[in-house]
Amino acid sequence: MKTDSRKVVVAGGGLVGCLTALRLLQRGFDVSVFEQREDMRRTPIRAGRSINLALSPRGIRALALCGLDEALLSQAIAMKGRLVHSVDGSVQFQPYSVRPGDCIHSISRRTLNCTLLDAIDALKPGALQFNQRLMRIEDEGAHVVFEDALGHATEFRDSILIAADGAGSAARKWMLSRTPGFHFNYSQHFQDYGYKELTIAPRPGGGFALQGDVLHIWPRGHFMMIALPNPDESFTATLFLPYQGREGFNALDTNERLLVFMNTYFPDAMGLIENPEVDFFNNPTGYLYTVKCNPWHYGERILLIGDAAHAIIPFYGQGMNCGFEDVGALDELLDQFDDWPSLFTAFSTIRKPNGDAIADLAEDNFLEMRDKVADPVFQKKRKLELRLEQAFPQYYSKYSMVTFRPDLSYYSAMVKGRRQDALLMEICKTGLIPETDVQLQALFTRLQEMNNRTGD
Ligand SMILES: Cc1cc2nc3c(=O)[nH]c(=O)nc-3n(C[C@H](O)[C@H](O)[C@H](O)COP(=O)(O)OP(=O)(O)OC[C@H]3O[C@@H](n4cnc5c(N)ncnc54)[C@H](O)[C@@H]3O)c2cc1C
Repeated sequence: MKTDSRKVVVAGGGLVGCLTALRLLQRGFDVSVFEQREDMRRTPIRAGRSINLALSPRGIRALALCGLDEALLSQAIAMKGRLVHSVDGSVQFQPYSVRPGDCIHSISRRTLNCTLLDAIDALKPGALQFNQRLMRIEDEGAHVVFEDALGHATEFRDSILIAADGAGSAARKWMLSRTPGFHFNYSQHFQDYGYKELTIAPRPGGGFALQGDVLHIWPRGHFMMIALPNPDESFTATLFLPYQGREGFNALDTNERLLVFMNTYFPDAMGLIENPEVDFFNNPTGYLYTVKCNPWHYGERILLIGDAAHAIIPFYGQGMNCGFEDVGALDELLDQFDDWPSLFTAFSTIRKPNGDAIADLAEDNFLEMRDKVADPVFQKKRKLELRLEQAFPQYYSKYSMVTFRPDLSYYSAMVKGRRQDALLMEICKTGLIPETDVQLQALFTRLQEMNNRTGD
């Protein structure tokens, strides 16, 4: 790429902004990162609060590109499946796959972000600027202004701006303001659900209070709770509830009502959650929404990446993984293009269908986790899929394609996976489940033929 185009400004020092900046620095670009918050490495973490994320192979592949996969995985906890908790206290283990090594990894958001910040500092001290907010974009993107809390401005002219400023992206809002001259498609879809984070402490003498190598899930029809293990042997639990209704946030407005609700639906977890009423009433209610937009770039200088381009709801555990995969795609395109405008167009074209696919898959998975994991037909389908995976290593369920096949695009995983799901659910509904090896082989052949038609 031309030398005068090697100055890149990244807006947002979150997970994706930092990985983008790190990779560009490793490739010799002159990168600066402007983050609106203070440096998280200098701010204390509130006791007992450890927010974690599920890291999976697409994200790991991008971390490997930057040489950080091993260091980060050593600080993560492998989860090999879901442990489903029924109201009566019984549990059922649903492995993610039968292939050894197919697991997802619970990792602290802070550990991940701090490691990336340290790696940037090590390559270019001074690249990171904190308490600096992207405030204005002018002159068709040629003039970009960041400001600190006192209103002191830092301005860039004719730089490349990579906007990794998250779901509420200021750069994306500016792009929207350029319509109708700029044909920018934009949609946001809010769920009628919000979430609260609660904490399950380690046992008093040490050790996990629940099984430590799984993702716990309490599906309750129109609401649910999940919990992911942390390296300090606590769990971060997330309670997803509708805003309205008998079991909605609006109805849980006193300690007493909350405790009755929790004891009714999550009795096995209740004795383990630390101060549920304190966390529930003090922690903010997170909201959930999907953002789709197109294109992901403006003119010759601005590119959206990560949640700024594709904010999705968290039910596939793929938002960050998709953002990290964006970085891998950007890196590949840097090998192919000599100029940013062509690269931006290619990036939008390649990544947009995948961003949309994982957004749609995440919405499907919300229904699956909330309603279907406890449904007998769905459970039969999971068992059938595990038999298929066991007998035929080439068979991948939709979940496995999305989560464990970074060689397959999200789009392709969605198309193939949905088609497989429809057929398998139909089989399980009608009760014509293969019993013999020959019948299972026939089903596998049919699935393979079906998928070969999709390409990819
Ligand atoms: C409850 C929940 C659970 C999740 N679980 C998972 C999971 O298990 N696995 C997974 O892969 N993903 C998960 N995600 C999604 C994941 O958190 C996001 O996809 C990921 O954080 C996106 O990274 P990002 O860097 O694009 O955006 P962000 O992490 O939002 O970072 C954006 C950064 O930009 C900064 N910023 C914003 N505006 C400006 C501005 N104007 N100027 C300068 N800086 C600015 C912000 O302060 C922030 O630091 C989850 C999300 C939620 C809500």
